[in-house]
Amino acid sequence: MSAAMIGAMGATAIGCRMPKSEQLAPTNGQIAPTSSKLAPTNGQLAPTSSQLAPTNGQLAPTARFDSARAWNDLEAQVAIGPRPAGSAALQKTRDYILAELKKAGIEARQQIFIANTPLGETSMANIIATIPGRRPERLAIASHYDTKRTPFMSPSGATVTRFVGASDGASSTAALLELARVLTTRQNEFTFELIFFDGEEAVVEWNRNNDNTYGSRHYVATALKAGTLKDLRALILLDMIGDKELLIRRDALSTPWLVDIVWNAAARIGHRAVFSNEETSIDDDHVPFLGAGVPAVDIIDLDYPAWHTAADTLDNVSARSLQIVGDVVLAALPDIEARLR
Ligand SMILES: [Zn+2]
Repeated sequence: MSAAMIGAMGATAIGCRMPKSEQLAPTNGQIAPTSSKLAPTNGQLAPTSSQLAPTNGQLAPTARFDSARAWNDLEAQVAIGPRPAGSAALQKTRDYILAELKKAGIEARQQIFIANTPLGETSMANIIATIPGRRPERLAIASHYDTKRTPFMSPSGATVTRFVGASDGASSTAALLELARVLTTRQNEFTFELIFFDGEEAVVEWNRNNDNTYGSRHYVATALKAGTLKDLRALILLDMIGDKELLIRRDALSTPWLVDIVWNAAARIGHRAVFSNEETSIDDDHVPFLGAGVPAVDIIDLDYPAWHTAADTLDNVSARSLQIVGDVVLAALPDIEARLR
């Protein structure tokens, strides 16, 4: 992405405890009937709590976002090395994402297309995973999974020859995989679409020749043509959320009501200092959606000294940051669903 404006304030580390969410499993004492009350038919034991609906009629609780699992996904991507669009390494990354989705029992498809880049035609592929809800209308959560093609010039003017994108590409992709796992355990009113965009990064230069956001632009153009974009009710975009010293500003291009819901959820669960009320303006994969009338919010930490430098490595990202963003997204979902109902 590119920042039209970057605030002057430095990032601050915030010592927040991970919230014990309301989503935790009720204790067995609240759900599992005692054997004396429940006459087991033919000598079988009472069902385990995970199989038994709690007495208030609700189904099993949603799993918690597990940043340890997300961290494994982040490390796996970084271990593949630089992953620019059109590379064998990005194909390997795709295989990894598809395998993880399959393990979680999630249907996914590849949306393959040819992008016209300043360096010629490049084959790219978005991955679109679907978790059916009670309604066919969709909520999308997305990330780009490509990394910036080298060599390129860092913001300070240094030539970057190796770039593994621990935050810029891997962090949000890892969080998206873990959110997908969590959402399969949730009772979803809307259908969830988890979109892994290819080709977010410029092949040569972001601001020239439309050299950016190839995957998201292709998704929107295709959905418009197919008439399926009208059923996409909102997009939550994650990008660069791994920064150890996480600081996420409100993006002025994003849809205000959606930003408010996410930032209010963050404040409610103790992350007011991470989700800053300062405003910035970010050009990213959400922009094609906004242009097509889909409400969208970009959750991004561009206040990251390692942004587009060789230092965007494991040393500068943390599992805790993934946890914060995962928790905030999950905490925001009920309000987003209520608003769209
Ligand atoms: Zn980038």
